[in-house]
Amino acid sequence: MDTRLPEFPKLEISRIIPELDLLNNPILNVKEKEFLAEFFEYMEENLEKHLKNLEELNYSAEEPIQEKKREIVANFMKKLAEKGYYSTVIDFEDHDVGNVTRNALIALALCGGFWSPNSDRYINGNWSIEMGRLSGGTLYCNPVNYKANNFQREKYLIPVVKYGLMAASAMTEFIAGSDIARIELKLDDKGDKVIANGKKLFITNGMLADYIILYGRLNSGRLGGIIVDTDHQQLKNFESSRVRTYGMNDAFVSRLVFKDTELPKENLLEGDGLDIMFHQLTEERLVISAEAIGDCIKKLFFSHSFALQREQFKHKLHQYQIIRFPIAENMRQTNLFISALINYAREIDSRTQIASSKIMASQIMGLKIQTCELAFQSSIDLFRTMGGRAFTEQYCNEMGLLDAFCMVHGGGSHYVLGDAESRRFFKTK
Ligand SMILES: Cc1cc2nc3c(=O)[nH]c(=O)nc-3n(C[C@H](O)[C@H](O)[C@H](O)COP(=O)(O)OP(=O)(O)OC[C@H]3O[C@@H](n4cnc5c(N)ncnc54)[C@H](O)[C@@H]3O)c2cc1C
Repeated sequence: MDTRLPEFPKLEISRIIPELDLLNNPILNVKEKEFLAEFFEYMEENLEKHLKNLEELNYSAEEPIQEKKREIVANFMKKLAEKGYYSTVIDFEDHDVGNVTRNALIALALCGGFWSPNSDRYINGNWSIEMGRLSGGTLYCNPVNYKANNFQREKYLIPVVKYGLMAASAMTEFIAGSDIARIELKLDDKGDKVIANGKKLFITNGMLADYIILYGRLNSGRLGGIIVDTDHQQLKNFESSRVRTYGMNDAFVSRLVFKDTELPKENLLEGDGLDIMFHQLTEERLVISAEAIGDCIKKLFFSHSFALQREQFKHKLHQYQIIRFPIAENMRQTNLFISALINYAREIDSRTQIASSKIMASQIMGLKIQTCELAFQSSIDLFRTMGGRAFTEQYCNEMGLLDAFCMVHGGGSHYVLGDAESRRFFKTK
């Protein structure tokens, strides 16, 4: 049964907003625009129909939709991988734009959508799909690329990057949330096997993943990382189930249970687990910033169109300053953040070593906080502008209204990051 009210028309984005058109943005150079234009074309031709199918399934309230979504999401990642849009960590061919910048541009476009120069209409973005791309393509691939030996690389990294297999990164536990040093999951070294015991929570892609990088405590008491081949989710003594969330509808956030799960020792990554986890954090936070900015672009397109179309008290909504001002302010902020994002991404591409600089990490942590807070604010402003309609799934799903709420936690909780950042300023030693 379709739960949509026929009296509510689909909210169509009626006009381009040049200030939000990335192809029109003076901060991007010609090569970056060429890369984006190609991605836009690919998204319109190959990905948009899948995004629409995912949205449509949300309205079939009484039907089991999970299996259908699972298939669409897995195929979506494969489609992305065909063009090198899933993970950018390995360059199989030469690119004019660096891999961190490419990663950020894909995230911007996939979350924000764009006004299509080909068909003169807006192509909607989807943050939850991008979350899946980030988890498999970056949170899994980057640390594996950092530490894998030749065998692990050939078996567990190249196929993911090339063919878009689903992958995940499992850090968070029921007790160890923000405080990952409290991880309890046991990785018991038994000669040629490692036996895993413990649970993981909030693992994006967890119940879809072919491969998972699993962090746990080794016999020595130190943290380690091991690649779990889930055998297409059939691995013995391993369970995965979905955590139901508000928003992020297509991210398959999961709970994982390992109960005497046997893993081959050859899958253990060399080195310290904390170092492996922290290694990818700066790029992860940069890409989350791009996602948040993309989400602001999307929310602004919807607020703008609704304010243009809806009339109350004999005036269109945009004629009221109280409606117009937040839209204009959020647009201004969005553009400031785009320039910071692109400059950070380019710098990391041109001088890879600065990604591990503490000051760079701290600045990107700050960008992640500010951009996600803006995405949060833009969602609240859109919610107000839409009135009662915003409260219906019919509009909420289309706009991904609640997605931004998740990212105040994902990739590092804002209080924790803010506290760490401010502590640095007052260090006396
Ligand atoms: C949509 C989504 C997807 C996710 N995907 C993954 C994934 O793929 N893999 C994975 O491993 N994890 C994932 N996470 C988990 C995410 O990283 C954690 O939610 C996050 O680390 C916070 O942990 P917690 O939820 O246990 O909150 P808690 O640690 O319990 O924190 C609760 C609150 O207290 C605050 N707080 C905690 N410590 C401090 C402090 N020292 N100072 C000030 N404030 C503090 C926090 O900011 C937060 O507001 C995901 C989360 C979400 C929401």
